[in-house]
Amino acid sequence: MAAVSFKNIHKSFDKAKVIHGIEFDIADGEFVVLVGPSGCGKSTLLRMLAGLEEVTDGQIVIGGKVVNDLDSKDRDIAMVFQSYALYPHMSVRDNMGFSLRLRRADAATIGKRVDDAARILNLTHLLDRLPRELSGGQRQRVAMGRAIVRDPQVFLFDEPLSNLDAKLRVAMRAEIKALHLRLKTTTVYVTHDQIEAMTMADRIVVMHDGIIEQIGTPLELFDRPGNLFVAQFIGSPA
Ligand code: ADP
Ligand code: MG
Repeated sequence: MAAVSFKNIHKSFDKAKVIHGIEFDIADGEFVVLVGPSGCGKSTLLRMLAGLEEVTDGQIVIGGKVVNDLDSKDRDIAMVFQSYALYPHMSVRDNMGFSLRLRRADAATIGKRVDDAARILNLTHLLDRLPRELSGGQRQRVAMGRAIVRDPQVFLFDEPLSNLDAKLRVAMRAEIKALHLRLKTTTVYVTHDQIEAMTMADRIVVMHDGIIEQIGTPLELFDRPGNLFVAQFIGSPA
């Protein structure tokens, strides 16, 4: 069974149609990257999966269950935002525990989950700091920690590295990949950066104007681009 299925997904904002019948499955444990130029519908697709945006037509299935009518907080997913979305007045510990507190987990569970995630992410010595007392890379790891503590079925990332400098961005790609190898959580990762897609993905979904141009492994797309758009997009410098 697929971890996630998009079944003939359409999306309109008022009269503007922005997603036109997107259909694909994501296998359990797979790291899938949605890539494509700005405005092609990547965030909208991810936000529909997260329950942050209504589906106009079609079905979204997570773990075999149609989730169209399920509230975002009741979906077994966790979204990793850019690091500036941390709560500035809360310690690292409280930032990481916050979503569990919202879901009324008990203090002992929250403490253990936060400690475990901090260990995985090398944040143990920073748990009592405030976000402003951290480096950019440390902040991004806290942003990931907030998702990890939930131990969700699916991680969603929407351009998490786009406000980091080039060197840190490359380092964080490796950290996110290492994390995925360790946890093996199904991941949907959005970027407009084809190099990021090529280096991180098990499979890449190339989007353009609300449709899928091609789906394949990085090697398949590189060796056999299905059309001119894919060839030009994959082949162009970042
Ligand atoms: P991407 O993430 O690939 O850059 P988006 O999913 O953000 O693209 O946007 C896809 C299209 O939908 C764009 O044309 C954008 O202007 C439009 N769009 C996104 N969100 C809204 C909204 N809340 N209201 C109206 N149009 C929107
Ligand atoms: Mg976007």
